[in-house]
Amino acid sequence: MEERVDIATLCVQAGYQPKRGEPRQMPIIQSTTFKYETSDQMGRLFDLEDSGYFYTRLQNPTNDMVAAKIAALEGGVGAMLTSSGQAANFFACFNICQAGDHMISTASIYGGTYNLFGVTFKKMGIDVTFIDQNAPEEEIEAAFKPNTKLVFGESLSNPGVRVFDFEKFSTIAHRHGVPLIVDNTFPTPVHCRPFEWGADIVTHSTTKYMDGHGTTVGGVIVDGGRFNWDEYTDKFPGLCTPDPSYHGLTYTKKFGRAAYITKATVQLMRDFGAIQSPQNAFYLNLGLQTLHLRVKRHNENAAAIARFLKGNKAVKWVMFPELEDDSNYTLAKKYMPNGTCGVMCFALKGNREFANRFMDNLKLVTIETHVADCYSCILHPASHTHRQLSQQQLKEAGVDPDLMRLSIGLENAEDLINDISQAIDAACRQ
Ligand SMILES: *Cc1c(COP(=O)(O)O)cnc(C)c1O
Repeated sequence: MEERVDIATLCVQAGYQPKRGEPRQMPIIQSTTFKYETSDQMGRLFDLEDSGYFYTRLQNPTNDMVAAKIAALEGGVGAMLTSSGQAANFFACFNICQAGDHMISTASIYGGTYNLFGVTFKKMGIDVTFIDQNAPEEEIEAAFKPNTKLVFGESLSNPGVRVFDFEKFSTIAHRHGVPLIVDNTFPTPVHCRPFEWGADIVTHSTTKYMDGHGTTVGGVIVDGGRFNWDEYTDKFPGLCTPDPSYHGLTYTKKFGRAAYITKATVQLMRDFGAIQSPQNAFYLNLGLQTLHLRVKRHNENAAAIARFLKGNKAVKWVMFPELEDDSNYTLAKKYMPNGTCGVMCFALKGNREFANRFMDNLKLVTIETHVADCYSCILHPASHTHRQLSQQQLKEAGVDPDLMRLSIGLENAEDLINDISQAIDAACRQ
């Protein structure tokens, strides 16, 4: 599909284009394996001499059509679906990092990713330095080591909705000869296109807005195809020198701009097997077909609710980058001029019990450990995900004991405001 068409058209039509007499909706190829006519044909597939399907753990036509749609949405050269967002971030880094290597990540990232990098990567011998994304350039520069292989950030951080300064980080990463990997889950390509701002690899938890209906856990990695791995052969031997598991094939020589995503598919997916099922890819595609409409509505609703909270006497503070006095307002306007996402954080005046009474009185907004689907939901980390921690430990973990994460769904904004308003009033009376 032409990349010049609007993102709305890509959401609906990119990826699968039926020919004469074929089904209008993308078919689910629910098959583990694929048939060939000669032994030689099959042999050539295993040597990556021919492209074709042979086993769904490596590639499946349904998954590939959905991946191609997401690659088109992001403007990348190729993409690979994974079983979850966690698997996407793991593969995205592990594709170019191994034991003995180092990487740099911003500290304000999704808790699951923080654990993956800080605990599990450490066990695998990959050392991660976490940096404050507001740090001055000199401080970020100082975190680089000779064995640093990548820089990682989130375009809008979960849960703080802080905006990533793409130009600052891509300039620094490229100055040090390493790629910038960005998790673009929250704004989605509808509101932010990281490749246009210098990112090299984009990841998503498709579980969030892309699926959007709370049905399907999944992830994706998109290759921007612009990073010149061959300029740094000794940094990226996995891409630039022969792979013994494919008879000495060299990815950059054989696959050019798609070297990174091809290696992730034929090597990491082959060996780790964290595939998305074709059935789930089908659900994901249904979500993608309305992504442009939903993201806009999530964001409009959230903006209305953020303004309401900002003006409410019981509210201590609101963090949403589209509020004029938010410290990230200018960054949001620069990188996401059409809007951000549907998630915000806020705190009520009063203690933890007051916050709990408020949540218990909500009727439409439900208490859930999720974000970014069609249902509005709320979570209070100090009472839920981080409840074992003392006030002091919460502070050390960077979790404000008052912080509530609110994810706004696709309901009517006025109904949601009325619900939040009545819950605040009820909590005050009790
Ligand atoms: C949820 C989330 C993830 C993890 O994705 P799963 O699909 O739950 O594995 C990664 N990054 C961000 C920004 C997320 O919100």
